[in-house]
Amino acid sequence: MALDSKTPKGPLKDKWTSYKNNIDLVNPANKRNIDVIVVGTGLAGGSAAATLAELGYNVKAFAYQDSPRRAHSIAAQGGINAAKNYQGDGDSSYRLFYDTVKGGDYRSRESNVHRLAEVSANIIDQCVAQGVPFARDYGGMLDNRSFGGVLVSRTFYAKGQTGQQLLLGAYSAMNRQIARGKIEMFNRHEMLDVVKVDGKARGIIARNLITGEIERHSAHAVVIATGGYGNVYFLSTNAMGSNATAAWKIHKKGAYFANPCYTQIHPTCIPRSGDYQSKLTLMSESLRNDGRIWVPKNMEDVMAIREGRKKPTDLSEEERDYYLERRYPAFGNLVPRDVASRAAKERCDAGYGVNATGEAVYLDFKSAIERYGKEQAKLKGINNPSADKVYELGQAIVEAKYGNLFQMYNKIVDEDPYKTPMMIYPATHYTMGGVWVDYNLMTTVDGLYCIGEANFSDHGANRLGASALMQGLADGYFVLPYTIGDYLSSDIRTGKIPTDTKEFDEAEKAVTDQINFFVNNNGSKSVDYFHKKLGKIMWEKVGMARNEKGLKEAMAEIKAVREDFWKEVNVPGTADEMNPELEKAGRVADFLELGELFAKDALNRNESCGGHFREESAETDGPQKGEAKRDDANYAYVAAWEYKGQPADAILHKEELEFNDIELKQRSYK
Ligand SMILES: Cc1cc2nc3c(=O)[nH]c(=O)nc-3n(C[C@H](O)[C@H](O)[C@H](O)COP(=O)(O)OP(=O)(O)OC[C@H]3O[C@@H](n4cnc5c(N)ncnc54)[C@H](O)[C@@H]3O)c2cc1C
Repeated sequence: MALDSKTPKGPLKDKWTSYKNNIDLVNPANKRNIDVIVVGTGLAGGSAAATLAELGYNVKAFAYQDSPRRAHSIAAQGGINAAKNYQGDGDSSYRLFYDTVKGGDYRSRESNVHRLAEVSANIIDQCVAQGVPFARDYGGMLDNRSFGGVLVSRTFYAKGQTGQQLLLGAYSAMNRQIARGKIEMFNRHEMLDVVKVDGKARGIIARNLITGEIERHSAHAVVIATGGYGNVYFLSTNAMGSNATAAWKIHKKGAYFANPCYTQIHPTCIPRSGDYQSKLTLMSESLRNDGRIWVPKNMEDVMAIREGRKKPTDLSEEERDYYLERRYPAFGNLVPRDVASRAAKERCDAGYGVNATGEAVYLDFKSAIERYGKEQAKLKGINNPSADKVYELGQAIVEAKYGNLFQMYNKIVDEDPYKTPMMIYPATHYTMGGVWVDYNLMTTVDGLYCIGEANFSDHGANRLGASALMQGLADGYFVLPYTIGDYLSSDIRTGKIPTDTKEFDEAEKAVTDQINFFVNNNGSKSVDYFHKKLGKIMWEKVGMARNEKGLKEAMAEIKAVREDFWKEVNVPGTADEMNPELEKAGRVADFLELGELFAKDALNRNESCGGHFREESAETDGPQKGEAKRDDANYAYVAAWEYKGQPADAILHKEELEFNDIELKQRSYK
């Protein structure tokens, strides 16, 4: 099948407008006869469901949590980007577009990113209208802060709880439609397969997670908004339940999976504390606005800190290596995440890690607290304030900006980050890869859409901070509602889709067979045993740095773990009750396939770009020595994989990326 991105013709800046002017529409009366299934009610799915229902479609929305309010989106801390230029610092939609394409290491589709930048400002207006309490400055205007990889302040935020507040906005918009009967909400339901009729997506099979009942649901189109697959690493900053099942099941039914190897390893997470941990915690990138990252300059100090003979606060400025400021003077601590993560790994690999495992660097707020404190003393007319007074005043400002994050750190690590620098280390956080979609956000299956983190998205090989919320809400509020209408306009005479057909019979049987297998297998090992094994292989061989040998080993090892899983997995309990182990078994089965495709994709991409660092492809001399080396001549394409049974047999389809408006350059943040 030819991979057609369906990008509209014409100048980049006019594409979206002329697209909207020329698509087919569904009249309001006909919308009442059309059903749409939305799987996932995080920010992407929640905003899509609310908007489609407001437009008049009958929406059936599904989530595995007990409420849309619990979607993983709630965890988003730092903020959401939009090109409003409220700071008057030179921002524009072009600059947001440019930063995003550059930040993604020139591996995203220009037309999609430009559209994203264009609609970004509408998202803020929409959310403010819903009552989302964005932070405001002294004069009452919406405040902004900076995120990595940009030289302007365009990030809107609500303390360190931006995702939660945005989700409450989307959830209230959904609730209005639930009350009107336009959204039928299926909480605690997990989609376990998609149903295709005559090549088109026409429904899903879902399990009621409370009763275990298997249900059939039909619709004229199906939208997948089920989030990312970072938990393929077992340990990540994602919610424990985040999984790839919906995305993987549709892949098996014909939706190509794009760039699975593009993962974001976030530089500022609380380091791992031991082998029995099941979750990692993010410290938001917003902290890099004020926190400075360093390790000791001298190895004696590293050892003294590790052995408890010295504290980080004992080290003078001269004894600290602010390595990001040293290596990247233009962007300093606000280099993009991939660059910051690799720099932390480089220092720790060289032996400068500051905790017992050698896998931690400092994120220090001392300079910011003193700077803010001095400013506050001046504003309050306090002459010659004592050092303690300056600290107290400065701490109050830092607390107002990031208080909940500091509290979280304090509770987890049992250290006061106002007094001693935080310890951080990179961890799996976000997946730029995902289900391939065209300009309409439609997958390679007709009538099957994919939005939010679940699609391969607009972020190329690396996502800039605060851009995931922007993309999810752009997809749900402002893009899908147009593009899906164009498709559904040809469905106005179809009528209800029946569920008593052989296609539904077959899909339901496959789902039931798998569930019955799990509860009857009586193996000797728990689901987590296999998930941890997979995660270890992924982290060690498909993690922050990858090479050919390791990737080949990873593929073979994952396959072996998968084979053992199908022999030895043990799932206690029964199929017709609430059974979290059964849910996990299905999800881990899918991760065990996705992990192998992930490694295969990483092996194929013999270049370094963004979050994918191939050790064979690094600059060997000059000022860029050690930095990632991209290969535009051979790899400026989206790798979209077609399922063919075993992950190793997947077939590669290339979407060549065209750059007409941006010149491809070596990414430099120096
Ligand atoms: C700790 C943390 C902090 C972050 N901070 C920021 C930030 O400050 N700014 C930013 O831009 N981005 C941030 N991100 C990224 C961002 O939060 C996510 O990319 C985004 O929220 C994903 O939204 P989503 O709607 O695509 O998916 P999710 O929010 O993950 O929602 C997935 C939905 O799908 C449902 N679901 C999944 N599988 C199934 C199934 N099989 N059947 C039925 N339902 C299913 C779930 O129930 C849920 O409703 C952060 C991420 C993390 C981990």
